[in-house]
Amino acid sequence: MTRKIKIGDRIIGGGNPVLIQSMTNTKTEDIERTVNQINELALSGCDIVRLSVYNESCVKALKSIMERVNVPIVADIHFDYKLAIGSIENGANKIRINPGNIGENENIKKIADCAKLYNVPIRVGANSGSVEKEILKKYGNTAEALTVSAMNNVKILESCGFDNIVISVKASNVKMMVEANRILSKICDYPLHLGVTEAGSDTLGIYKSSVGIGSLLLDGIGDTIRVSLTGNPIKEIYAAKNILKSINLYENYAEIISCPTCGRCCVDLEKIVKEIEKYTEKVNKSIKIAIMGCIVNGPGEAKEADIGLAGGNGKCVIFKKGEIYKTVNEDNAIKVLKEEIDKIISGKN
Ligand code: SF4
Repeated sequence: MTRKIKIGDRIIGGGNPVLIQSMTNTKTEDIERTVNQINELALSGCDIVRLSVYNESCVKALKSIMERVNVPIVADIHFDYKLAIGSIENGANKIRINPGNIGENENIKKIADCAKLYNVPIRVGANSGSVEKEILKKYGNTAEALTVSAMNNVKILESCGFDNIVISVKASNVKMMVEANRILSKICDYPLHLGVTEAGSDTLGIYKSSVGIGSLLLDGIGDTIRVSLTGNPIKEIYAAKNILKSINLYENYAEIISCPTCGRCCVDLEKIVKEIEKYTEKVNKSIKIAIMGCIVNGPGEAKEADIGLAGGNGKCVIFKKGEIYKTVNEDNAIKVLKEEIDKIISGKN
């Protein structure tokens, strides 16, 4: 089990729910747009939002941003230790630095001391593109190299008496990212931030992230995740939630299971599924709904569903936990299914 790290009002690690992260892509100095995007991300289900702090104006903007958002904020800083200290003083709940590019150890110590004073955790780690030359020379471009680089960064902070740390090791190569995190989970108990970096757009990128992040989470590795996708970060939240849903790490939503359809299917199942998905997208109660193509196999194949529909020839059956509840005309089936879903959600079942 990893140790618990507090970030704002949330906890990363220690067996707590896996937190979803994303990062703004607005100019941080543009306070209005940045606040809007942070709030939109939070509304969509993002637990922690990161933003870039790349100059003094961003540090100033951060102060105003922190007054207008209700989600923990991570300041992402490179090169300049003063930006890190300014961000902590202006309210950042966590910072992400790469000690390797901050430079002098005495400047890293200044950041660590300030973070300690404000009880702000620091994320460090390594990306496949940021591994130091000497490490690459010794280990090659491998998972080991990533972990050695990450642990060197951890040791720098530890030598400053700082251990309020979250680690990330990211690579665009899924296998390498998975292996590196497996190694880290064996050698330390710091919470792990998982992500496949530069995963790409929302087509292949989602699959790469799902395989990489998902396989680690299934092994109980990983405390917070970011699905990196090119473009609007809102997409990242839906992808992250769907990864968590697909491995039962996300609760209180309407899970829709549906059959792939085959020659026995007599209804436009795709249309029904889409309509019920839309109808239940804002449900925040755990409910399992089955939408199956035929009554021959449907109810039996979806025994675990709280409520289900199985298509027939002109008639559909509504079933609960695998048992037929009632038979309805096909024209009326969606309406009846929605009513039954409402009853379950409101507890009037
Ligand atoms: Fe085919 Fe019926 Fe199974 Fe759907 S539930 S795949 S229609 S047999």
